[in-house]
Amino acid sequence: MSYSYEAPVSQTLFDRASLVTPGGVNSPVRAFRAVGGTPRFMVSGTGPYLTDADGREYVDLVCSWGPMILGHSHPAVIEAVQAAVARGTSFGTPGEGEVALAEEIVTRVEPVEQVRLVSSGTEATMSAIRLARGFTGRAKVVKFAGCYHGHVDALLAAAGSGVATFGLPDTPGVTGAQAGDTIVLPYNDLEAVNEAFHTHPGEIACVITEASPGNMGVVPPMPGFNEGLRAACAKNGALYISDEVMTGFRTSKAGWYGVDGVAPDLMTFGKVMGGGFPAAAFGGRKDVMEYLAPAGPVYQAGTLSGNPVATAAGLAQLRLLDDAAYEKIDAVSAAIRTLLTDALAKEGVAHRLQTASNMFSVFFTDRDVRNYEDAKKQQSFRFNAFFHAMLSQGVYLPPSAFESWFVSTAHDERAIERIAAALPSAARAAAEATEVSA
Ligand code: PLP
Repeated sequence: MSYSYEAPVSQTLFDRASLVTPGGVNSPVRAFRAVGGTPRFMVSGTGPYLTDADGREYVDLVCSWGPMILGHSHPAVIEAVQAAVARGTSFGTPGEGEVALAEEIVTRVEPVEQVRLVSSGTEATMSAIRLARGFTGRAKVVKFAGCYHGHVDALLAAAGSGVATFGLPDTPGVTGAQAGDTIVLPYNDLEAVNEAFHTHPGEIACVITEASPGNMGVVPPMPGFNEGLRAACAKNGALYISDEVMTGFRTSKAGWYGVDGVAPDLMTFGKVMGGGFPAAAFGGRKDVMEYLAPAGPVYQAGTLSGNPVATAAGLAQLRLLDDAAYEKIDAVSAAIRTLLTDALAKEGVAHRLQTASNMFSVFFTDRDVRNYEDAKKQQSFRFNAFFHAMLSQGVYLPPSAFESWFVSTAHDERAIERIAAALPSAARAAAEATEVSA
């Protein structure tokens, strides 16, 4: 596919980056490999807009993959960060900011009695799994195909292929031993979960699931699925870990727990709670959390855990996320979803717009998507054409058909009008796309 618009400065930067960084990026999906073309190097962000190195402005529907729920450069967050930086950037000692952030999380999310701060979602899930294994004295972990929990070795067995089903490594560098205790099951399939407990009695330490998956596109749990997971874990002495790195403090004040009310044993958080800085957390039942060092025997640590600048940003952001903020985000999401589906319907493009609270994504398929196998059947070449048509008109979407779109309180009428203006021709591009042109 050829692109009718150029990004010369981004291209130059990408060429430079490709010499010194593998694939030119520090996280793979940023490279535009799925959609083709030149990744945009962004230089600044304000409210719902990003500006790239070529001076083009985009309405941002990625929001840094979730964290920027108040939009970019929110004055209160910037002010809190500046004040924190002025006091010093890292002390390697406890500080009050960490306590306040932990209290905010515990107050918002009832099942979290204690919380440990870390620096990335990957660290949070990795530590939660270790804790679950230490607490139960069991080795096996159940995860679902299409759920992403960061690049933890044991959790990368995820592609849903036969290889993944047998817990063999999906990526070179993950050994059979590291992945061999991982059982990968199809999402939204409780029967498979009960069967796994039946086949491995007394061996499963935990079931980890995205609270509502957004990493195969948006595929919400079917009614009763999370309740069923909780019940199966309780019955079999395993821990139920709900990964809320993406949904936490986004889908409601208390994340997805605030939507479905199913109480996990452990939960993981990241993205929104860091206010755009590297801060993440895992937490849950006190009796389980007290197994962590120094209170208990399971070791976990971090030089920059609870960093004062990151905690200041996260706390400032969470304190602004009141009921009115969530109403605004939900309304923005609903407005964009209506525009999107109207535009696609007008062009006769088969699609499913799937929603989990204010998270959503579009699948170019005529069937509901309930798991990763379904998600892989979409016509992603249509997404790629759609993506580039939006990009060329100044709307920045996730550069993959397998990702959630994110909105913020900063998406105002003007931003929504720009999306509305871009959609008709993007829908046409999706309609006209062929597999070869993608
Ligand atoms: N868990 C979920 C549900 C995620 O969406 C992500 C990242 O997208 C992670 C864990 C890993 O977080 P991080 O990228 O901060 O390591």
